[in-house]
Amino acid sequence: CGIVGYVGSQEAYPILIKGLKRLEYRGYDSAGVAIVDEDDINLIKCKGKVADLENKANGQNLKGTLGIGHTRWATHGPPNDVNSHPHYSQSKNLAIIHNGIIENYDALKKELVNQGYRFESETDTEVLINFIEMVREAEDLKLEDAVRVALNQVVGAYAIAIVERGNTDKIVLAKKGSPLVVGIGDDEFFIASDATPFVEYTKNAVYLEDEEMAVIERGKKLEIKSITDNKSIDPYIHELQM
Ligand code: GLU
Repeated sequence: CGIVGYVGSQEAYPILIKGLKRLEYRGYDSAGVAIVDEDDINLIKCKGKVADLENKANGQNLKGTLGIGHTRWATHGPPNDVNSHPHYSQSKNLAIIHNGIIENYDALKKELVNQGYRFESETDTEVLINFIEMVREAEDLKLEDAVRVALNQVVGAYAIAIVERGNTDKIVLAKKGSPLVVGIGDDEFFIASDATPFVEYTKNAVYLEDEEMAVIERGKKLEIKSITDNKSIDPYIHELQM
């Protein structure tokens, strides 16, 4: 189970694939990537190895300089293509990758079904992204605010990365119980479960703490906030020795 992400001036897809391969040692049953371009969130995923994902991606449009990638260790729903991450929200305006477990997903899912949401997968993760979407639409919030408000009603463990359609600049992250690190390069950011995928690109890493969220935005400084009280937190930049 692992997470990678990239925003910068390079093509995202090759960086994500290389990063996922570096995380293979953690063990996984499925893999997937999502790249955000001007029009869409283009998403490819499958059961199996990162090499299987590369085969499936062959000939698909995965051009773009912002993306997220995932290796899954199934907890809710068996390993198959549909349950693999990333997961779209129902409107396809959002996509998420997640490591961890949403413990109250059943209660949240019932609420969402009552609101008319339908689900494609059996995962707790698809419940989480639709819950974020519901909160966002109900209160007309910015993505990061919707994520924060929603997470305050979530019980469980997570490292998540979320992207939105039409936004080729921004990735929203949050962490509780599962690891998540941000690599800070020159005008580019890397995301990963540990620093091994990006150590060749930058030695500057910020390890998120539990109950922290981060907004990564092209051309801006890394912004970290407390999920519980929305207070800004100064990022501590750790120098990698690898
Ligand atoms: N609970 C999620 C799922 O089963 C994420 C599993 C993981 O950590 O990879 O899809």
